[in-house]
Amino acid sequence: MPLDLVLRQGRIAGDADGPRDIGIQAGRIAEIAPAIVTDAPEIRLDGRLAVPGFVETHIHLDKSCISDRCTCSQGTVREAIAAVAAAKASFTERDVYARARRTLEKAIVQGTTRMRTHVEIDPGIGLTGFNAVRRLKQDYAWAIDLQLCVFPQEGLLNNPGTDELLVTACESGADLIGGAPYIDSDPHGQIARIFVLAARFDIDIDFHLDFDLDPSWMHLDEVCRQTDAHRWGGRVAVGHASKLSAIDEQRLMGIGRRLADAGVALTVLPATDLYLMGRDHTYNVPRGVAPAHKLLPLGVTCSLATNNVLNPFTPFGDCSLIRMANLYANAAQAGTPADLAACFDMVTVLPAKLMNLSDYGIAVGNPADFVVLDCVDGAAAVAELVQPMLGIKRGRVSFSHPAAVIHYPK
Ligand SMILES: [Zn+2]
Repeated sequence: MPLDLVLRQGRIAGDADGPRDIGIQAGRIAEIAPAIVTDAPEIRLDGRLAVPGFVETHIHLDKSCISDRCTCSQGTVREAIAAVAAAKASFTERDVYARARRTLEKAIVQGTTRMRTHVEIDPGIGLTGFNAVRRLKQDYAWAIDLQLCVFPQEGLLNNPGTDELLVTACESGADLIGGAPYIDSDPHGQIARIFVLAARFDIDIDFHLDFDLDPSWMHLDEVCRQTDAHRWGGRVAVGHASKLSAIDEQRLMGIGRRLADAGVALTVLPATDLYLMGRDHTYNVPRGVAPAHKLLPLGVTCSLATNNVLNPFTPFGDCSLIRMANLYANAAQAGTPADLAACFDMVTVLPAKLMNLSDYGIAVGNPADFVVLDCVDGAAAVAELVQPMLGIKRGRVSFSHPAAVIHYPK
């Protein structure tokens, strides 16, 4: 069968062999070679970097774009949860869909091709947010693969009716389940219940965890223990773990080995963690960002993600994962070429591994997903905040940014 499209002379991330041609047929990568002979339409990459798109492991589409509805004065986690809970009272399916769509389209033009979004489930919101985001998943399947992770942001065991709603969501197409044990009256009870539900529906788990700077206790221990007990290694991730920024190197390495052994992955959320942590300090404010890059050599799967966009948790956001990698690198003082390459990996191949995406990557047979960056490698993309020029999803151009033009004086 003839090719539908050929990308000419793209540099493939992680491939040292120089630019290649990539042939696309029926939405998949059919051929990769130094020079493909074909009459198919072509897009010239001229040595630019081609990546299979950025992978967002942790974002909240349903509560994005509500800064204008919330008033916050302290900037703490508790205040953010309370402010969003109050705003949720007026959420409708139409409203959630419109805001989530705005945020999703930002992510698409920033080059994100795979995404895990956390969706709040509780008796107040019911399945309203879930139903809106589920429709969005179908409507935007041409541009992005969306995973829905349902979770109880306002507690599970302390919030009657939440468990039944989570079960209904899992029966109705939720891809995985999450939790926020720090907000529950019985954190270990919540962790245990989430593992039971994950086993019942055979789905992965993604917790919000250890979201403060008190290193005297961690729920991470219990999550690793339950992961071992349920043999759920490789299927569990935790987000935040800002406590890991408040411990010394020796203890950090011990926890890293435990995470690697258990098969528990870590997502760091630099924008939210920088914004909400250390609010009890008026100067010398701690950064509160877990040093994920130091855990990579131990074999821990780590990702960097956006979390919140334009709400009390994070009143910023353009959904750029390159910007998030740069923000992390800056806050974590990760500036060597190897560190910058690792930061790029934490928004591409490593989050794909965290999400168990077996068909991610520029390889024959995989979906023809590409994002083109005008740079030579991932380290340069992170260091220079290189903006995506072009996106292709399953062989079809999904977005493009015209290059800026400098108008020199004549
Ligand atoms: Zn989150």
